[in-house]
Amino acid sequence: MYVAGLAWNHFHREIVMCNQDFVGVLPVSPMHSHKLGFYSLFAYADRLARTSATETLFGINLHGKLGEPRMLPVLQNRVGLLGISPTFWWLDSVMTQDVIQEVVQTLFDQGLIKKERRQIMRCACGNVEYVSGVVLRGTRKTLLKGEIAACCNSPVTSSDEEALVTAPLPSLTLPETHPSWAASEMRAELDRLEGVQLLISRKTRRIVTVRLEGRSWWLDNDFLWWPYLWKAYQEEAPIRHLVTGASVVRQTCLLLAFSRLIGIPGPHSVHCLPKVHFKSVWGLETPEQLVERFDVSRVQNALIWAALSGRKEFTLQETTISCMNPYIPIDIPLLQSRRMLHV
Ligand SMILES: [Zn+2]
Repeated sequence: MYVAGLAWNHFHREIVMCNQDFVGVLPVSPMHSHKLGFYSLFAYADRLARTSATETLFGINLHGKLGEPRMLPVLQNRVGLLGISPTFWWLDSVMTQDVIQEVVQTLFDQGLIKKERRQIMRCACGNVEYVSGVVLRGTRKTLLKGEIAACCNSPVTSSDEEALVTAPLPSLTLPETHPSWAASEMRAELDRLEGVQLLISRKTRRIVTVRLEGRSWWLDNDFLWWPYLWKAYQEEAPIRHLVTGASVVRQTCLLLAFSRLIGIPGPHSVHCLPKVHFKSVWGLETPEQLVERFDVSRVQNALIWAALSGRKEFTLQETTISCMNPYIPIDIPLLQSRRMLHV
């Protein structure tokens, strides 16, 4: 059942019919839809759901620079071509100005979002913006060369001003996390996030604004997908198993910590899959070409095989696809505990 592009209330009407636990894919951008390896996330989630008799919810980012809404039909067609049939698509475009306003106002009224004075560090164009003293990690780090912002080649300067921040993030029990490297990295990241107040307002233009106590604020674009687990839970599609990627460990932890802050039960398990590259020797590139050459069962199994490698990156080759048994689907519980799948 595809729900692409439908408004949230439609999604709600459809989804309450299911009354099931869900395997959720952390929202991803369709800009990667030309890469075969990208589909390992969906193939894995689909197989996990079939194994555990749960439904699937595939999250998609359409907002922002990386959104590429034009690529959505390509992605959806290819997911179908690969024999994967999600129960629902969750498009972050359902997080409209009105929905976000309601979300932020609710959290503000509950004291989970606060207006406080902070020393804010910012570059001239406003792309780089953070609370003074926070430790920058991952992609944010690459935005700065020393004190100079790469975006506009300007120094970041400090200013004392009112900002919207979250309440301090709580401590969190790590869900059952696979593979083991992801469990230790996520544990360390969650420890770093404990007590941190996330800056959610921005000085310069972003995608949405909110009004609080008569004043308008731009919101950090990440806030558009942080309510992913919350909204799914609210709409009776609780995500019990979260499928995510090795390159977004920090974002996954932010999502879990934010969800915990607002009182949403976290997933029972998190599956952190490798970034899967595909190396063609025979000139086959697209999922269409590969399915035609090897058939859908082999390609699906190869994608799941790569996902189960336990690595951060994995390179799939045509020879691996050709060696797959097309008659026996790879069983995810062989590597995970069955207890986890039936909670
Ligand atoms: Zn800048």
